[in-house]
Amino acid sequence: MKIAIAGSGALGSRFGYMLYEAGNDVILIDKWKEHIDSIRENGLIVQDGNNRKIVNIPIFYPHEVAEEVDLVFVFTKSMGLQDMLEDIKPILRENTSVISLLNGIGHEDILKEYLPVKNIFMGVTIYTSGLKGSGHVIFEGSGTIEIQNFTPGDREEKKALQLVGMLNQAGFKAYYSEDVTHSIWRKACVNGAMNAICALLDCNLAEFVSTNQAEMIIRHIAKEFVKVAKEKGTILDENDIVEYILQSSRKVGSHYPSMHQDLIQNHRLTEVDFLNGAVARMSKELGFETPYNTFITQLIHAKEQIIMDE
Ligand code: NAD
Repeated sequence: MKIAIAGSGALGSRFGYMLYEAGNDVILIDKWKEHIDSIRENGLIVQDGNNRKIVNIPIFYPHEVAEEVDLVFVFTKSMGLQDMLEDIKPILRENTSVISLLNGIGHEDILKEYLPVKNIFMGVTIYTSGLKGSGHVIFEGSGTIEIQNFTPGDREEKKALQLVGMLNQAGFKAYYSEDVTHSIWRKACVNGAMNAICALLDCNLAEFVSTNQAEMIIRHIAKEFVKVAKEKGTILDENDIVEYILQSSRKVGSHYPSMHQDLIQNHRLTEVDFLNGAVARMSKELGFETPYNTFITQLIHAKEQIIMDE
C-alpha cells in the first residue's frame, strides 16, 4: 500500500516515520523548503527521549508527486487543509482513502469537496510531537488513535479496521471508534475552552485554571459547544467536560497549548476557525448566537493581525 503524508510537520513526520519504519511504502509531502532540503540532505532526524535516529524517507513538494497513492494522511494545520487537497488533487484517485486526525470540527466538509464520502475516514489522536527545527521531529510521549469510517457500510468499516491494524502494526495504540464524531466534538470542546484563552492571556494551562474566573469562563464556552453539538446530532456532557478540563489542566501544569505555541511563541496563524470559530459559524447557520465563542474568535483574529503586522 502506497501511503502519502500530506503535511509532514510535527505530527505528520511522526506518523510518516513510524509507518515507514514498519515497512510501509511511505512518502512525505510538504511545501516548507528548509524542511524538505534538510530531509533530502540529512534525512529526517527523529528524537524519542534519549534515542535519536536518522531516517531517509522520501519527501516531495505536492507538484512533484505524480503517482497514485492508496492512502493519504492529512496533517496540515486545519486552515491549510483546503490548499493541500487542491495541491494533491492529481494523486487523489477513485479509490484513494483519506484519513483526517486534525484537531477541530468541520474538516469533513472540506474533504467531501475532493473525494467520494466512502473514501473518508475520520479520527482523533492524542499522540503529540514537536519540531526542533526543519528536518528534526521530537516525539512527546505516547497516546491513542481512534478511527471510524465517515459513511456507514460493511466495506467502509472493514477498511477502517484495516487502517487500525496497520497503525497498531506500526507501534501506535489505535482502535476502531463506534462514534468518532462524539470524540472529535469532545476534543474540540476541550481545546476550545482552553487554547484560545491561554493564548489571549499568555499563560499555561495550570496558570489559567488556578484563577477564580477559570471555571466560569470554561463553562460558558463549553455550554455553547454542547448546544451546537446537540443541534448537529452529538450529545456532549457539559459537567463531565468541565470537570475533565479542570482536572487535566491542573495535572499537566506548565504545558502551553498549541494555540499559544502558534500565536504567541511562533507568531503563526491559529486553528481558531475550526474550534471556537466553527461553533460561532455553525450557531449562526442554525439561527442562534454563541457570543462567547464568537468574541473569542474575534479576539484571536485581532491578535493574529497585530502579531503579523509587527
Ligand atoms: P505543523 O504546522 O507542524 O505541520 C503542518 C505541515 O503542513 C507544515 O510542515 C506545513 O509546511 C505543511 N503544509 C501546510 N499546507 C501545505 C500545503 N498546501 N502543501 C504542502 N504542505 C503544507 O502542524 P502539526 O503540529 O503537525 O499539526 C497538524 C494537525 O494535527 C493540526 O490539526 C493539529 O491540531 C493536529 N494535532 C497536532 C498534534 C501535535 O502534537 N503536533 C497533536 C494532536 C493533533
